[in-house]
Amino acid sequence: MRRKNCVNGCGALDELQYEGVAIDQCQQCKGIWLDTSELTEIIQTKKQSWPEATIEKVLATCGGSGVPEKERRRSLPCPLCGDNLPAVNYQGNSGVIVNTCANNHGVWLDAGELSKIQIYMENRHRVGKTFTDKHQQLLNDAEIGDKLRHTESRLERVKEWRQASRKVSGYRDTRRDGFGSIFDFFDF
Ligand SMILES: [Zn+2]
Ligand SMILES: [Zn+2]
Repeated sequence: MRRKNCVNGCGALDELQYEGVAIDQCQQCKGIWLDTSELTEIIQTKKQSWPEATIEKVLATCGGSGVPEKERRRSLPCPLCGDNLPAVNYQGNSGVIVNTCANNHGVWLDAGELSKIQIYMENRHRVGKTFTDKHQQLLNDAEIGDKLRHTESRLERVKEWRQASRKVSGYRDTRRDGFGSIFDFFDF
C-alpha cells in the first residue's frame, strides 16, 4: 500500500505500533493519522496510563462545544482521498478539535491530541462533575448576589425614610414657629 502523506505537507507518514494498533505518524509535526475504527480500538484498549497531574491538566482544557473559527478555516487533505478534512469537536463537547474525512477514511490528530482524547474518554465523568461544581458555584454566587441586592435596597429605603422624616421634622419645626401650641399637641 502507498504510504500516506502528512496533512501538513511534511512528507510521508511513518507506520508504527501504538496500543497494538498500526498508526501513521508524522515524525516532523508529530501529527497522527488513524484509519476508521483505529481511534475506537485505541480508546478501548486503555493500555496507556498517565500521571494524575497530567490527567488533571488535560481535563482542565477539555469540554465545550463548537469549533473555533481558526480551526474551521484550516484546510487539510485526507491522506487517502485528498478531500478536505472538516474540523469537528470530538464527541460534540470534548473541546478537542479533530479533522475527519467526510468519506469515512479516518481522522487526523495534531500532536498530543491522541492522548488528550484517550484521557478525556477515560475520565469524562470528571469533566461533567467539574462542570456541575462550576454551575453550582455560579448559582451560589447568584444567590449571594440576590441577598446583597436585597440588603442594599433595604438600606436604601432606610436612608430614604430617614431623609423623609428629617424633612417632616423640618416642616414641623418651621410650622411650630407660628403655630407652636397646636403642633406641640401633635408632637410624635
Ligand atoms: Zn507533519
Ligand atoms: Zn478521505
